[in-house]
Amino acid sequence: MSGSSQFGPKVWYNGKLIPWEDATVHVSAHALHYGSSVFEGIRAYATPRGPSVFCLDEHVERLFDSAKIFRVDMQYTFDEIRQAIKDTIRANGHESCYIRPLVFRGTGALGVEGRKCSVETVIFTLEWGSYLGPEALEQGVDVGVSSWRRMAPDTFPAMGKIGGQYVNSQFAKMEALDLGYAENIVLDVNGYASEGSGENLFLIDRGQIYTTPLWGSILAGITRRCVMQIAADLGHPVREQTMSREWLYIADELFFTGTAAEVTPIRSVDRIPIGEGRRGPITAEIQQRFFDVTTGKGEDTHGWLTPVG
Ligand code: PMP
Repeated sequence: MSGSSQFGPKVWYNGKLIPWEDATVHVSAHALHYGSSVFEGIRAYATPRGPSVFCLDEHVERLFDSAKIFRVDMQYTFDEIRQAIKDTIRANGHESCYIRPLVFRGTGALGVEGRKCSVETVIFTLEWGSYLGPEALEQGVDVGVSSWRRMAPDTFPAMGKIGGQYVNSQFAKMEALDLGYAENIVLDVNGYASEGSGENLFLIDRGQIYTTPLWGSILAGITRRCVMQIAADLGHPVREQTMSREWLYIADELFFTGTAAEVTPIRSVDRIPIGEGRRGPITAEIQQRFFDVTTGKGEDTHGWLTPVG
């Protein structure tokens, strides 16, 4: 039997492609106890040139940055990880997929400081549709504002994509689902809008686009960076700007960006309709360009796609 059907049948585990069901860890693995891992979330899209990874180098770079922040000794080079991602997609025969590289502290010692533990590297893939629901991309999503805050800058390093930090995201997301929202926007320690539990946030007011600054306790999203470039290409340069909760309510348009969420319009916040209460025109324009590039229909002027080969 090959695992759950949505997962690719092979897992890249410390340099070898092995069957999904053999890719297991020991119960004493440090990461299981303390969240000591760094990871990435990447998408490959079906394009006329075959499956192509979106922003492959940028994601591998961020994985290395997260490892540097968290003092995890990477066991493979940049090029080896890059190649391994392509090999895993090819081995699993996907047209399109989500890719999860994960580097974690394994067994060796149980103390909190885990640097004596082994470092394990895995990559697996799964077929994943739109993250916030099938209608989300067209209709937009209803979101709340979480009662949980993002980490203050001197508590956790928000720029690192580090496993344990996602406990914060889980609280925000559980609360959202329990209250009937697709997602929650989380405020930073000063009470300003930071980001979703797994997405960056954009606001449009009188034709000007804003997004949370990198110093707003956010993950430096790769989709965020591309969308800022797309918006500039379309003649809407984006300003990084601190955003208050009430500004969200009176904005003309809001949307999320993320590898999983792609470009998802937000149609209400705290049950207050945003703009016309549906996807706005600038969001639609950016979304269209984003999917044209990712699916290879439009010209990839910034070299964001890497065919798996
Ligand atoms: N913020 C958080 C907390 C995330 O987990 C993600 C998803 N990686 C993002 C933002 C969006 O980042 P990206 O566009 O690189 O996927």
